[in-house]
Amino acid sequence: MNLLKSVMGLIKPAKVIFRILFKKPMTLKFPSESLEPVKDYRGRHFLNLEKCVGCGMCSRVCPNNAIEMVKFNGKTYPQIHLGKCCFCGLCVERCPTKALTMTPEAMLSFYDKSLAIYGPSKLSQTAEK
Ligand code: SF4
Ligand code: SF4
Repeated sequence: MNLLKSVMGLIKPAKVIFRILFKKPMTLKFPSESLEPVKDYRGRHFLNLEKCVGCGMCSRVCPNNAIEMVKFNGKTYPQIHLGKCCFCGLCVERCPTKALTMTPEAMLSFYDKSLAIYGPSKLSQTAEK
């Protein structure tokens, strides 16, 4: 009886180990693998320079004062400090010409905080895939 109990005691954990061994891992090999962003994910902004009329509405509505209007190619455009941004999306919502949108680009990390400042030129570049 005792021997049977001991054998059963070994079989149970062995079954668990085998089940785990052949199971698909729950984690991903980041950064080579990552999750697909969910629909309407609010990542870094994209600015369509042709659509932007320089009204400054995005800058006025921003609760974190993350948007400053700057001169670029003779016109006024928003510049966004992503270090201050909370990705609320209010600037995008209020933009009257839909010039400002949010991309799924979420991998934003910088060694220098000045790199988190996206001027019109950087904002108008398509998000990296
Ligand atoms: S997403 Fe929100 S916090 Fe970020 S720049 Fe736009 S309004 Fe400001
Ligand atoms: S992005 Fe939109 S809200 Fe901001 S200045 Fe341009 S047109 Fe106005």
